[in-house]
Parts: sequence; structure tokens; C-alpha cells
Amino acid sequence: MKESVGKVPGLAVILVGTRKDSETYVRSKKKACEEVGIDSYGVNLPEDTTQDEVLNFVKKFNDDPAVHGILVQLPLPKHISEEAIVGSVCIEKDVDGFHPMNIGALAMQGRTPLFVSCTPKGCIELLVRTGVVIKGKHAVVIGRSNIVGTPAALLLQKQNATVTVVHSKTPNPAEVTRNADIVIAAVGVPELVRGDWLKPGAVVIDVGINPVEDLSTKKGYRLVGDVCYKEACQVASKITPVPGGVGPMTIAMLLSNTLESAKRAYGLMMAMLGATESAATVSF
Ligand code: NAD
Repeated sequence: MKESVGKVPGLAVILVGTRKDSETYVRSKKKACEEVGIDSYGVNLPEDTTQDEVLNFVKKFNDDPAVHGILVQLPLPKHISEEAIVGSVCIEKDVDGFHPMNIGALAMQGRTPLFVSCTPKGCIELLVRTGVVIKGKHAVVIGRSNIVGTPAALLLQKQNATVTVVHSKTPNPAEVTRNADIVIAAVGVPELVRGDWLKPGAVVIDVGINPVEDLSTKKGYRLVGDVCYKEACQVASKITPVPGGVGPMTIAMLLSNTLESAKRAYGLMMAMLGATESAATVSF
């Protein structure tokens, strides 16, 4: 893109506050941008930034033609409405796919969102690229959050799976999960899913990233998933590790969405050069 049309994609990341996990995620996203040649425009704002000040930054990036994607790192401090901020990102730059218009389009038959949120998109990409057949299979998604569980279930449905959603009020989660050919766990409970929750040969995507105390490590903790990997890998035919599975895919999908957005912005120039292939293999 740089050589042909003299432009590169741009991603703006807005971070408010000093949460260590958010700072780490933002650093990884910026580093990934650098590696692939995407310009990043970050602002790190103090914890006491007002909602209006954050809205002004979103507006500034909405209006900046060099920015093709805007990401507001969640969670935001309690005095700022996430709904107001996420809803203020223009949908053409909503590379996180959190805008209600994009989530709404995902939920509707025959509608295609401009962007699909990165973590669930990465889950489907992992399945497709490893040759897992989704069509006609029974998929169980554990968790129903707006950013992972719910869009993951909608995406699996769009890929023609029969989908069951298990959540905190499901009385028999192990029994339901045992029927699944494909399991996506997005719960936030360390090692909730045990080996005996799985049908032999099931494919398991573990989204969870949970720090658990481990005094034998330098940091005093280690990261585990929502699935007990040691038990599950004895039963599953395929399983993603934590760390190193869904996390890096989420970042890859963010880069892919930013590239797609830049291609849309420079569509005519790109089309004239015939450089229109997609970075991700799955389209929804
Ligand atoms: P969330 O807290 O918003 O949602 C958790 C969901 O799990 C809820 O819908 C709840 O109903 C359900 N749940 C809670 N306890 C349950 C139980 N005992 N049985 C069944 N369902 C239960 O969390 P989230 O934002 O969806 O994140 C889930 C996990 O995924 C976390 O560990 C988070 O750190 C991780 N995460 C990873 C990535 C990544 O890039 N790998 C991205 C986002 C989130």
C-alpha cells in the first residue's frame, strides 16, 4: 500500500487511566502495528479525564483521514460511560466492532457488519484455518458478554453451526457442553471447563485469560485459560493454548480490520492497482 498508493493504514488507540493489564494490551497492539507497518496514533490520558475530553479525542480521530481505525481500550474509569464513548466512534472506523450498529448488523440475517469484533472473529479464523468444519456442527459458547460470547455465538450461527449458549445461570453447564463438537469458552473463571465436560474429539477454543497466583514465577502469577488444558488436551482433538492462542489472534484481527478499513478509504486507488485481497480468510 505504501509503495503503490503512498499511504499506510492508521490506528488510533485511546487509553484512559493506568490499569496494568490495559497498558500491556495497548503496548502489544502498538508493537504489532509497528511490525506490519501500520501507523499508530496513541493517547494515554490520566484517570481523571472527563467524558467530554475523551469524546473530543474520539471526534479528533473520527475527523482525521490518516486514521482508519479507532480503538478505545476498555474498561474505562467508572465516571465515563462506555456506551457513550463506544457509540461516538464513527462506524467506518470501529475496528473493534463494538458499535451497536455493527453488533446489530451481526445479529441480523442478511446483514453484514462493517467490522466484526476482533476476539470472536479470531476464534472463527482459527477454526477455519485449521480446517475445522463448522457447518452443521453443534457449537457451545460458554459466556454471553457483548464483546466475546454473544458475537462468537452469532458468528458461529452465520457459519451454519447449531449454537447453544451457556451462561452463569445455566443449571447444567457440563452436561450441555458435553454435547458440543466445538466449544468456545469465554467466561473469566480459571480452568472452569474440565476434561469430563468435553465430548471426545471436540474442538476447544479457550478465550479466557486469568492470572492465578504462582510464587514460583518472577511475577508471582501465571496465566491460565477458562479450560483446564492438562485435562482437556487428553479428550479434545484440537485445543488453543493460553497464553498464545486466542490472544495473538485478537491482535491479528485488529490489524486485519484496520487494513480492511484503509482499503475501503483508498478503495478506488487500490482497485485500480488490483490489490484488493482480504487479510482474513473468513468473510461474514
Ligand atoms: P465477562 O465477565 O464480560 O463475561 C463473562 C461471561 O461468562 C458472562 O456472560 C457470564 O454469564 C458467564 N459466566 C460467568 N460465570 C459463569 C459460569 N460459572 N458458568 C457459565 N458461564 C459463566 O467476560 P469477557 O469480557 O467475555 O471475558 C471472558 C474471558 O475472556 C476473560 O478471562 C477475559 O480476560 C478473556 N478475554 C480474552 C480476550 C483475548 O484476546 N484472548 C479478549 C477478551 C476477553
